[in-house]
Amino acid sequence: MSDKIKKLKEQLLSSRKNGYDRVGPSALAEMEAYCAGYMAFLDSAKTERLCAAETIRLAEERGYRPYVRGMEVKAGDKLYVSNRGKSVMLAHIGRRTLAEGTQIAAAHIDSPRLDLKPNPLYEDSELAYFKTHYYGGIRKYQWVTIPLELRGVAALKNGTVVPVNIGAEPGDPRLVITDLLPHLGQEQAKKPLATAIPGETLNLLLGSRPIGDEEDTGRVKLAVMQLLHEKYGITEDDLTSAELEAVPAMNATDIGLDRSMIGAYGHDDRVCAYAALKALLDLTETPEKTALCVLADKEEIGSDGVTGMQSAAFDTFLEDLCAAQDVPLRVCREKSFCLSADVTAAYDPDYADVYEKRNAAFLNYGVGLCKYTGARGKSGASDADAETVAYIRRVFDEAGVVWQIAELGKVDAGGGGTVAAYMANRNITTLDAGVPVLSMHAPFETVGKLDCYETYLGMGAVYRSAFPG
Ligand code: MN
Ligand code: MN
Repeated sequence: MSDKIKKLKEQLLSSRKNGYDRVGPSALAEMEAYCAGYMAFLDSAKTERLCAAETIRLAEERGYRPYVRGMEVKAGDKLYVSNRGKSVMLAHIGRRTLAEGTQIAAAHIDSPRLDLKPNPLYEDSELAYFKTHYYGGIRKYQWVTIPLELRGVAALKNGTVVPVNIGAEPGDPRLVITDLLPHLGQEQAKKPLATAIPGETLNLLLGSRPIGDEEDTGRVKLAVMQLLHEKYGITEDDLTSAELEAVPAMNATDIGLDRSMIGAYGHDDRVCAYAALKALLDLTETPEKTALCVLADKEEIGSDGVTGMQSAAFDTFLEDLCAAQDVPLRVCREKSFCLSADVTAAYDPDYADVYEKRNAAFLNYGVGLCKYTGARGKSGASDADAETVAYIRRVFDEAGVVWQIAELGKVDAGGGGTVAAYMANRNITTLDAGVPVLSMHAPFETVGKLDCYETYLGMGAVYRSAFPG
């Protein structure tokens, strides 16, 4: 290539680079340390409630305290609010007044899983089971024949809330959903993936050992209920006011001979939630504008509900903070910026036909910006404006963050959504960005360590920046 062409190319054409060709060797140790913290977070936070509790524990360790309405709110204050133990909002109050807006990172802490139905317990053919109702977009065939644990709470009529944990501790028994043997699976194997495993067959196997005498009935179910009663003091009726979630009984682990990736349940979206949280906790100085981290529930089923991003809980928190500084909420909102921190699909060469390679997110190419999400012609997307994308390009480049910009897949292949639209609908300028994930929504998802770390760096850059809007 002639020097002239080489120069011209450098000047005019974009050159995507693998993140490992951009970060120095010194960054690798920091990346590993960060990812070790993230993996520990994942293992302790397999449900939204556990995630919220761990978030609060980490925040309090770093000097955050619960916000109580009416409190004084001044620069440097580190405050948080727990929304019903399932969503957390944290604020590091900035030097400028809230009239100049806030820098928000919003992620979600719920993940696809199998919830128990309200009348879950039954016995069939002398085997005891729990009926489940899946939560979020799962591929049902992936949830059979893997070890599962049961996490959540049973709320009693007297107000007591009993935490339930079956399967998380070493030596604990695990639960499983069975599948057909191939020898008898010929008809099932002809069905499309989406219908081969009906939702009503996702039943958790609980026990097989009867109590009592031969002539007694329902002995296996009774034996299981007896064990639950011994451990948790609950009866079958208490299961009607329980929130119990079957989640994979697997901890986060390094993936690959080079240990460059992390395999785990719940990367979507705890990988961005942790990045948003850790970057906030690691702010060494009072930010210029107030930095807000919102960890929402219910994203996987549409962000509705009192703990979802569409709930007024967020507005209430922000309005309370604003009221403490005599700032109208609407003034704060229109000057605010939100990075909707959610995962995107990583290009998978085994399934190349659903991706458009020029606009796909690649593993190890850094945090993936998405100007829009949505499906069928951007439906459901907030579609950030060009000025907002330019703002983030500048923020990330100035902070040396490795980033890429992508779409979820081919235009006609499908699509997805995030909390971005709900923030944008509040008159808050919003842009999506997050970690590219392989096998998203599977019980065991894979991400690149470099992308996890760059997302953390990106969140920090957003908190420290001041959106000009
Ligand atoms: Mn997500
Ligand atoms: Mn998701």
